Amino acid sequence: MSDKPLNLVVFGVDSLRADHLSCYGYKRLTTPHIDHLASRGVLFENAYSAYIPTTPAYAAMLTGMDTFTTQVVALGHRGQLDPKTGKYDGQLTPEVKTLPEILRKEGYISACVGGERGPWRGFDRYAHPPRQWLAWADGRADKAEQLNNVTLPILEDMVQSGKPFFLFLRHMDPHAPYLPPAPFERMFYSDNECRPYRKPKDAKGWKPITKPMRPVFDFKPFAEFFKSWMPSGITDGEYVIAQYDGALAYMDACIARLLTRLEELGVADHTLIILNGDHGETLYDHEIFFDHHGLYEPTLHVPLIIVDPRQPKWAGRRVKGFTLHQDLVPTVLELLGIKSRIKFDGQSVVPLIKGERVTNYTEFYITECTWMRKRGWRTPVWKFWEALEPDFHNKPLVELYNLIDDPEEHNNLADKEPQVVETLRARMLAWIEKRKKETGKGEPIQDYHIGLEKRIGSIATAQQLQAQKGQG
Ligand SMILES: [Zn+2]
Repeated sequence: MSDKPLNLVVFGVDSLRADHLSCYGYKRLTTPHIDHLASRGVLFENAYSAYIPTTPAYAAMLTGMDTFTTQVVALGHRGQLDPKTGKYDGQLTPEVKTLPEILRKEGYISACVGGERGPWRGFDRYAHPPRQWLAWADGRADKAEQLNNVTLPILEDMVQSGKPFFLFLRHMDPHAPYLPPAPFERMFYSDNECRPYRKPKDAKGWKPITKPMRPVFDFKPFAEFFKSWMPSGITDGEYVIAQYDGALAYMDACIARLLTRLEELGVADHTLIILNGDHGETLYDHEIFFDHHGLYEPTLHVPLIIVDPRQPKWAGRRVKGFTLHQDLVPTVLELLGIKSRIKFDGQSVVPLIKGERVTNYTEFYITECTWMRKRGWRTPVWKFWEALEPDFHNKPLVELYNLIDDPEEHNNLADKEPQVVETLRARMLAWIEKRKKETGKGEPIQDYHIGLEKRIGSIATAQQLQAQKGQG
């Protein structure tokens, strides 16, 4: 094997919940190619997205830093004020370095497909696949194939240059609208998605609807968005879940093409491959339909798979310890043999793979800030969170779940277990104070208010709800 540094390909998939990948135990065979990839490397069973949604999650993934250091806590990070234009630039603070910036000093070239400012700062090249946000009237969405079409020429260029490269890909297939093309749209669903709620007289073949779409469309802030891409007259929520799963299967097949191309180009045995998700997705869970807000497990639990072609001994390993997005950059640098003077908030997961350490976290801070504004504390057994503002779902202001007894988080114990709430809140607050001292910065979620910057749905509804709650 040559001494040339390893190449790096990161699949940073948007809205990919871990438990819908077949290699994470899902009942449907959604991801056979990713499963095969995982069998050649290490699968992390407890990788978490601690800061949702998209922008803070990718910021942690691409800098090795937590939300206190990056100060990125919400979608569409504001960034710094540019005195020339009088506008905010949407960028990360300059003292925080991104992975492509660190790798450039080591002679790497880089490209990013599907991201640009903020967390994706510092790549040499950017590309944006078309047709990523379609409505029902636009037809079926070939998102991952469009991504392949813009990515393959870039990959071929980078291989030809002879320099070590870093390619970052942000697939949008699991992100709503879920509109996978044939045959994937029917891969996991053969029923009539518009069949009546009530059993008709001629009931031959009629199956009861267990996940009705009525409450989905009753949630006004997202109703118009859902109507824009779901079939008219839909009654069965299982169909929409099957579209999400079909989108995974479609993306999986398209990812296989990229992996094949790495082999054809002769670089597969010299390329480190990582697959991760920015956050997961609630489907028909917790009345947060087909989106990624709420601090429930479907949104926080993401896949992490690492394949190092020089480590055949690692094939098929599964790591149970907890890992967070800020661990990715220190992990990559260790695997690429790069020493950095940066003191990352995250830490490498390599000791977990080698069995030298059990977990990277025994407890950790969680936030969400865009549709709802909440913060909390996760341990292996408990998850507690509290709202800093009332939310547009009228959820309880404090939630507490025992994840061993109640892994699906149906039984909120906040009222029954006030001492557990107080213990976890105290640990969270102590950690917040520690991070404020260490960084010299505030808790970023305190500098932010929701309700004014929403781009989908009804602003008035959320604000009215908040106003009513405030009076109550
Ligand atoms: Zn996202």
